[in-house]
Amino acid sequence: MPLTELIIDGFKSFAEKTKIQFDTGITGIVGPNGSGKSNITEAIRWVMGESSAKSLRGSNMKDVIFAGSEFRKPANHAEVSLIFDNKKRELNFKDDKVVVTRRILRSGDNEYLINKRNVRQKDVRALFLDSGISQDSLAIISQGRVDQILNSRPEERRSLFEEAAGVLHFKKQKEEAAVQ
Ligand code: ATP
Ligand code: MG
Repeated sequence: MPLTELIIDGFKSFAEKTKIQFDTGITGIVGPNGSGKSNITEAIRWVMGESSAKSLRGSNMKDVIFAGSEFRKPANHAEVSLIFDNKKRELNFKDDKVVVTRRILRSGDNEYLINKRNVRQKDVRALFLDSGISQDSLAIISQGRVDQILNSRPEERRSLFEEAAGVLHFKKQKEEAAVQ
């Protein structure tokens, strides 16, 4: 499913609003150490509903907000949007274009939007589940993740295969129904 654009504003080292456009095929992001390459994949995982500050290399979710530098004052919020071309309805959503946004304020207030309408984290996760690109999926492989997958327990590995096969969505629904 085509991810066409990523907009990062006030997230980690991206003090200024930055747009990254993706063409078809493979996109390579290159740059010196510490230039923000990993911050880009973290921004993508964050919009998709990442809830662990630790896995984003912070201790609190507010740590993702640009902390300021010698010449720039800290940002008061972080906002990231992912823009998808959904003409083929690869995402379970009615529109041709899908914009998923997450925003966090210094107060800790956090919100998610799909095409500018407020939604719950659960709705964002459901949108991506079974699309093969959820924030925890094999579509995004961070530094060290390959080793982690190879060393993981069989049950953890099984859930990655279930997600790739598109059955995890039903399993999650079944678990939720059992709890209620
Ligand atoms: P490497 O090649 O070493 O993997 P990289 O290009 O992946 O490097 P990142 O890890 O994405 O680099 O970026 C690290 C930079 O982001 C550091 O300079 C760090 O200070 C900066 N950074 C992280 N969080 C924030 C924040 N909240 N505010 C400002 N800068 C931040
Ligand atoms: Mg890196």
